[in-house]
Amino acid sequence: MIQHLPARRSRLLPACLLIGTLLGCSPKETEAPPANILWITLDTLRADHLGCYGYFRNTTPRIDAFAKESVLFEDCVVPMATTLPSHLSMLTSTWPIEHGVLANVTQGGKRFVRSTGLVSFAEVVSEAGYATAGFISAKPLQSWTGIDAGFQTYDGPEQKERIAQETVDKALAWLDQHQGQSSDQPFFLWVHLFDPHAPFQPPAEFKNAFQPQPELDTFLADRGIPDLVQGPNGLDVETRPSHDLYDAEILYTDSQVGRLFDRLDQGGLKEHTAVLLMSDHGEGLGQHGVARHGLIWNELVNSVFILRAPGLAPARFQAPVSSIDAFPTLLGLLDIPGARSFLAQSSGHDLFAPEFKERPQWSQSSARLISYGLPVLYSLRRGPWKFVWNTEESTGVLYNLTEDPFESTDVSEQNLLMKVELQAELLASKQIQEQRGQVFGSGGEDAMDPKTLQDLRDLGYTGND
Ligand SMILES: [Zn+2]
Repeated sequence: MIQHLPARRSRLLPACLLIGTLLGCSPKETEAPPANILWITLDTLRADHLGCYGYFRNTTPRIDAFAKESVLFEDCVVPMATTLPSHLSMLTSTWPIEHGVLANVTQGGKRFVRSTGLVSFAEVVSEAGYATAGFISAKPLQSWTGIDAGFQTYDGPEQKERIAQETVDKALAWLDQHQGQSSDQPFFLWVHLFDPHAPFQPPAEFKNAFQPQPELDTFLADRGIPDLVQGPNGLDVETRPSHDLYDAEILYTDSQVGRLFDRLDQGGLKEHTAVLLMSDHGEGLGQHGVARHGLIWNELVNSVFILRAPGLAPARFQAPVSSIDAFPTLLGLLDIPGARSFLAQSSGHDLFAPEFKERPQWSQSSARLISYGLPVLYSLRRGPWKFVWNTEESTGVLYNLTEDPFESTDVSEQNLLMKVELQAELLASKQIQEQRGQVFGSGGEDAMDPKTLQDLRDLGYTGND
């Protein structure tokens, strides 16, 4: 597989920093100020619905332009297609089993508990002197979950969710205030937008942005998506209108992301700010009979991962990576004190490190599905192969993604040796994750109030999708 590695930014480490202990000179006197970090997470954004990931519709003009200045990771996999566990995995660079939060609610919908061995990236940069702020758009990321650890400012909606414009308004107001008061202090700003999540109700001016077209028919046919699929409430969902409205939500979200880019362009912030744009998971939209998310099909776990950083040459990175690699990779580019402790806990890797090698990619289904008698599924991707393990039945399924990118045919019988090999590798990986999770002491008790639980139910987080 061809891979284009970007030029690494010169770390600008002065000689006295490298031998600072010997000479007694202070790194602070000579070190360049660390770059600002803007982390944008777009909820429920399927990678194959963005122009820069090959989609036929112009859903993301601003993100596509941004991608041309960035390193775009073409094949990023999230460890779980569920909002809270996925975000926690990114922020801690650990697998869900390691941080212990295996669902938004019920059967593993627990609090993130920091420990001496397990911290959030936000804590690392906060302790390194950054101003930290998180602006989120939906209940699954509320502060009760513990995901706000390390954020000096943390702001979420009173209701179940809020529209992107409200969240971006608040984030920009914070940024203006921060720049006005302490522009020398670097910032870590997280902006989470939720609009592509169901229900698909874009603002009026975006509602009719996309209409039925022949290319959509081809897109649906290639993926085996039927005209109707059962939604979480048991009612049939028409897949064509769903795609049109979902894409309209993405176009709206893109316009709001553009406001963040515009702000960086003003006052020279762009040159001093690393921007990490990611999605936490995709959306079924009828593929494999799934309307929403939480399972481990590729359309649910393949995610968006685009990184622009000062001095980093634009490129497209083709090897499979995990979303838990994001912050270790960022730390490899920026000189941030305290990075070493974070990297020590990390199961992710610096993707630009000289020793980079392609690694198997892990995913698992949301533990809340246990509530509905469904087994937890685990998957391991290596090369062209994807192995899926069903814990309940102790059975496995094998796909060849090169020949069958949309996972339609189990080829276990023709490839028994590969199946056995991947099964052993998956179970060994799971055991290591469990041991590390015990060391971290992660996964605090569920402490959700009834109102929050009801709000999450209203968002569809008790369905079996
Ligand atoms: Zn989500």
